[in-house]
Amino acid sequence: MFDYLIVGAGFAGCVLAERLASVENKKVLLLDKRNHIGGNAYDYFDEAGILIHKYGPHIFHTNSKEVFNYLSKFTEWRNYQHKVLASVDGQEVPIPINLTTINTLYGLNLSSADLEDFFASKAENIAQVKTSEDVVVKAVGRELYEKFFKGYTRKQWDLDPSELDASVTARVPTRTNKDDRYFTDTYQAMPLYGYTKMFEKMLNHPNIKIMLNTDYHEITNEISYQNMIFTGPVDEYFDYCYGKLPYRSLEFKFETLDQQRFQQTGTVNYPNDYAFTRITEFKYLTGQQHQKTSLVYEYPQAEGDPYYPIPRPENAALYKKYQALADQSKTYFVGRLATYKYYNMDQVVAQALATFKKIQSANSTQPVNNGTINNSY
Ligand code: FAD
Ligand code: UDP
Repeated sequence: MFDYLIVGAGFAGCVLAERLASVENKKVLLLDKRNHIGGNAYDYFDEAGILIHKYGPHIFHTNSKEVFNYLSKFTEWRNYQHKVLASVDGQEVPIPINLTTINTLYGLNLSSADLEDFFASKAENIAQVKTSEDVVVKAVGRELYEKFFKGYTRKQWDLDPSELDASVTARVPTRTNKDDRYFTDTYQAMPLYGYTKMFEKMLNHPNIKIMLNTDYHEITNEISYQNMIFTGPVDEYFDYCYGKLPYRSLEFKFETLDQQRFQQTGTVNYPNDYAFTRITEFKYLTGQQHQKTSLVYEYPQAEGDPYYPIPRPENAALYKKYQALADQSKTYFVGRLATYKYYNMDQVVAQALATFKKIQSANSTQPVNNGTINNSY
């Protein structure tokens, strides 16, 4: 008899399995329909011996000390600040748009103060920012919006930015300085030996049994358990009773080249050319030394594994109906697919830790927490 059946061995499932087993001494069955742990953050060595990410580039960044400290129990880190160039008008320039981007693109020599005036002269006056078009056009005007955001977004989502919530392009905010890092979070680092090694360490506990290649539908009647934590798609759990929640998928094409370096930064984005959105060269992310180099090209797709919830009002409304069912259910729903949120890894870890606290206090006659994540790992 298991205390917890956890469906899905990604970040959400692994954090909860680890916490329940090691802190609460619960017996956990962690299962995944894939043949590996780690969910979309899974990495492995390809045929050439280069560490690659099976489901596209995963760069860890967070402002949460709690999340960083928690994961640091299971891995050492390699400092890494991700940089991205966008291929626009025949040049490769920094994205997020910054001072270097504008000076390079237009052959100018502006200062940061000049650039503020430049953006102000281009920006459109939008009273209420609602969509992914509004955010960018209000900050930098229509021309830069069309060069950097319109084409990329249409490719990635098969939607015009005006049909997506503001939060999507707001992930890539404009700067007036020369900071050319993709993220500005306090903690930016990659697990020194990779994500999979970190997950293996998290799950290395006698109370945790792992079952791979198993859809939970196959075993729920065969195995006895007291509680379920579900980290797969929430609409699937409820048999699509309100219809399918839309997700965006990707096809990943990997390539290994017989040369040490291919491009100038970890990722190069192609907003306006080609069917793929971006190319990532893994050795930048991992710091691995190797005579060869491996790349991944991302081709957006309508069908396939559900990688991205699609943030727009009608989808939020549909999710709300599933959320109401989830709220009434005894099952806990955690993670990017189960809560239909465009979450980064650190946000999923924070959500899983918060769920653990909730479970702890529900299980205890004397509530043990005040609802906040503390630092006592
Ligand atoms: P998942 O990792 O999706 O895990 C859910 C698991 O549930 C899966 O393994 C699935 O097989 C399993 N499952 C589903 N249904 C069933 C079922 N019926 N039975 C059994 N098992 C089931 N985040 C960052 O912070 N930085 C990045 O750079 C970054 N890059 C990304 C790039 C791409 C291309 C994508 C798609 C995502 C990226 N993310 C990034 C987001 C990151 O992948 C997620 O935040 C995180 O992995 C979500 O963890 P999860 O546990 O919620 O879900
Ligand atoms: N985006 C864009 N141009 C870019 C980079 C991003 O238009 O060069 C938009 C696009 O809509 C994308 C979103 O901003 O889906 C978020 O970008 P991010 O790099 O965070 O996407 P992820 O890594 O989650 O795929």
